[in-house]
Amino acid sequence: MELCEQCNDLAGMPSTALPHSGLVASGVGAFGAPRGQMEKAYDQWKCSVCGNRMYQGTEHDDPPLEWRTGEKPADWKAISGES
Ligand SMILES: [Zn+2]
Repeated sequence: MELCEQCNDLAGMPSTALPHSGLVASGVGAFGAPRGQMEKAYDQWKCSVCGNRMYQGTEHDDPPLEWRTGEKPADWKAISGES
């Protein structure tokens, strides 16, 4: 899939960067212990320009999570999310 310029720019940015204007929130995922408190989570976005999905880490650890594109990040173990 061809990314639009805005998605291309955002991919790999720290998750503290703001979503670009074409992104529409499309879900939330979380991971951590199966029960009990969540340790990490991400917001899922879908681009209205190019149709790309992006994942924004919502925990700002050290190092911070990033904006990722394409497949759901393999190392972000979502236990809920896609609707
Ligand atoms: Zn896009």
